[in-house]
Amino acid sequence: MSRCILVLPGDGVGPEIIAEALKVLAATETRFQLGLTVQEGLIGGASIDVHGVPLTNETLAQAAQVDAVLLGAVGGYQWESLDIAIRPEKGLLGLRAGLDLFANLRPAILYPQLASASTLKPEIVAGLDIMIVRELTGGIYFGQPRGIRVCDDGQREGFNTLVYSEAEIERIGRVAFTTAQRRQGRLCSVDKANVLEVTELWREVMTNLGREYPDVELSHMYVDNAAMQLVRAPKQFDVMVTTNMFGDILSDCASMLTGSIGMLPSASLNAAGQGMYEPIHGSAPDIAGQGIANPLATILSVAMMLRHSLASADAAVAIETAVATVLDSGLRTADIVSDGTEQVTTAEMGDAVAAAIRKQ
Ligand code: NAD
Repeated sequence: MSRCILVLPGDGVGPEIIAEALKVLAATETRFQLGLTVQEGLIGGASIDVHGVPLTNETLAQAAQVDAVLLGAVGGYQWESLDIAIRPEKGLLGLRAGLDLFANLRPAILYPQLASASTLKPEIVAGLDIMIVRELTGGIYFGQPRGIRVCDDGQREGFNTLVYSEAEIERIGRVAFTTAQRRQGRLCSVDKANVLEVTELWREVMTNLGREYPDVELSHMYVDNAAMQLVRAPKQFDVMVTTNMFGDILSDCASMLTGSIGMLPSASLNAAGQGMYEPIHGSAPDIAGQGIANPLATILSVAMMLRHSLASADAAVAIETAVATVLDSGLRTADIVSDGTEQVTTAEMGDAVAAAIRKQ
């Protein structure tokens, strides 16, 4: 069966980390005969520079046709003065909304080799394995009305709308409950139900849904407490489910538990199982072009893509094992280097993972 993926490198470190992910994919293809066809396209600032918009209708249509999208990152200083409606980040939001990728899975796993790279004490983070399920196509990032207006007194005011329908809450809830069923069976729903009516509804829907999943232990936590608990005692969590903005913030917080934001992959899925796969970090313009970005989050995103959208779990495991092998060998990019390890470039890290796959 011929399967097709669309690769969108994007901006900043995007093309650098995608190049390494494609090296690893090529090594995996050779070993597992995946029969993949790879198409490439533009998104974000790279698309603005050529087409004037961060996501063209053609690219969106192309993305809708393929089995999966592999994305680098978007954004950069040179596009920051543009109107917010056509900034690079809008391309990403357009892709998420256009493909209805409502379920964002963000694993935060601490590789034992990196326990000392975390800013938290090793005993707090050793063995960490959390899955954050973030709602991705609703909430305040998409709610209408939104904008900046001039009030009667001449002052400007900015406004956004945080809105969730019951159906939106229920469908992300189901993804979270079934994810918990495949793990340790514990789900923590994060909200701000003491202040925001929309998350009062969120809590009610999650509680009702919980009756359909008696094998999952459901708990609720306010988002401010969840942020604190993530750095106080993160191993108490198995699966967390939350809104778009809370998930955005909490997953960046969780990333630091694992040593670096450069280690964390993500999957964004729609109801048909079609997915977009990307590292959770941005385009890191501060380090772009220096060959020091960590490509492992993107490489691990390829593993998630093989598992969730391409039904190639064995190939996914091969990539994850190769990453562990390379970390065991002491190779580290600048963001995770520590005493007794060897610093390598972005490309050298990609070469090492690809070589580890060939040697398995
Ligand atoms: P960022 O994630 O790009 O960078 C935050 C910090 O982490 C920086 O110091 C960066 O150097 C470091 N970092 C990120 N990825 C790394 C990697 N692979 N290896 C080593 N270090 C890494 O977030 P930011 O600085 O807030 O945003 C930069 C740009 O990225 C902005 O334009 C923002 O809008 C965009 N952004 C895009 C996405 C996306 O494409 N999914 C996500 C977040 C931010």
